[in-house]
Parts: sequence; structure tokens; C-alpha cells
Amino acid sequence: MIITKQKDFDFILGLVKDKKNIFLVGCGECATICKTGGEEQILEIKKKLEKAGKVVTGWVVPEATCISSQVKMSMAKNRKALNQTDGVLVFACGSGTQSFKENDRMSLDVYSGNDTLFAAAVDSQGNFKEVCSSCGDCILDLTEGVCPVTRCAKGLLNGPCGGQKDGKCEVDRTKDCAWILIYKLKEQKNKINDLKNIIPTRDHKKSLRPHSLELKKS
Ligand code: SF4
Ligand code: SF4
Repeated sequence: MIITKQKDFDFILGLVKDKKNIFLVGCGECATICKTGGEEQILEIKKKLEKAGKVVTGWVVPEATCISSQVKMSMAKNRKALNQTDGVLVFACGSGTQSFKENDRMSLDVYSGNDTLFAAAVDSQGNFKEVCSSCGDCILDLTEGVCPVTRCAKGLLNGPCGGQKDGKCEVDRTKDCAWILIYKLKEQKNKINDLKNIIPTRDHKKSLRPHSLELKKS
């Protein structure tokens, strides 16, 4: 899932300082789980904007704002409110905000109320952890399922830098050293010799942005 953080309300208010009539858009997926763009947060923002003298012409929380068809459906249902709107605040991830913008045929001014932080796995305590940075050239098969590209602060591919202490990374002592994790897993599985195999230099062409992928029609 995509992790977002809501911007400070004063900053959000600054974004729409020249606008009177605001429409709010949330997201029923990731931003709802992150509590940055679910129904509850949209209603809170609505209340704060109204207190600040703005008119909220309407609001919607599409099931997933990054999906074009859902945005189009939400816009169609809220056409009247959108016609009375000077500016739209979107509380989704950057993809959701841009998806709204791309589907807007009214050329509305669209602003992001959230900062998009990273794509995450959610652990059993409900914490969000960045474990993959979508490099396009996965090597988890070589590293016992621990991604050094993302989880090593230096992105090292062939063993630790030497700065780890008690298994913690020298860049951030609160975080595990990815290479110590990989070493321990290899050791448990009697695969230490694997570490003698050099992982080749990455093909950075595979991580050139922006990515896109066309699904083959069956
Ligand atoms: S190597 Fe790491 S960053 Fe690349 S795809 Fe695999 S998990 Fe993601
Ligand atoms: S201490 Fe470990 S995780 Fe941190 S930069 Fe060095 S090798 Fe990478």
C-alpha cells in the first residue's frame, strides 16, 4: 500500500487562500488506512475549512482514487457540486491526486492535501515499513527475501559496509542492518557460500521513470 501523511492544516489553507468554494476528495483504500483521506478525515477537514470561512461544495471518497473509472464515476455523481467549485483538495497519494486531475474535464485547480511517502508492507502490529522501492529488477531470490536495495541505507548489493553494530545500521541505529539479516538467514539455511557469488551491477535502465505497463488483452 501507499503511505501518505496529511499536510499541516495551515499549509492546506494556504493552498486554497484565493479560493472560496472547495470540493474535497479522499480515497477509500490506502489513504483511509493511513487515516489521511478516509471519510472521517475528510469530514474533519471540511469542518476546519468551514470554520476558516470556506464553503465546502461537496466531498467524495472514491473506492480507489488512483483508478480512473472510479474517479469518473465519483465526478459524474458530484457534477453539480463540482460546477460550483473553485478548487479541489485531494487527500490521496500522488497517483490518486494526478488520477483526479487527469480525469477532470472542467480544468479545476487541483491541490494535494497529502504528502506521499513510500510503498509499504504492513507488519503484524500495523506499522508501515518500506521494504521495496520498485527497482524493476528484483533480486530477492538471491538475498533470502530481504531487499538490500531498499533496506540497506547505502543500497549495497554485495555485503555490509562494515559500519553495523550489534546488527544495527550505522546510518540509523534503530534499524536492522539488511546485510546482517541476509547473513543470518543464509547461515540458518546453510547457504553461506552463496555470499561468494557476486550480485551483478544493477541495470538502472530498468528503474528509469516514469514506468508504465500495458496489460495484454486476453
Ligand atoms: S530488489 Fe528490492 S526494490 Fe527491487 S523489486 Fe526486489 S524488493 Fe523491490
Ligand atoms: S550498516 Fe548495513 S544496512 Fe547500514 S549501510 Fe552498512 S551495510 Fe547497509
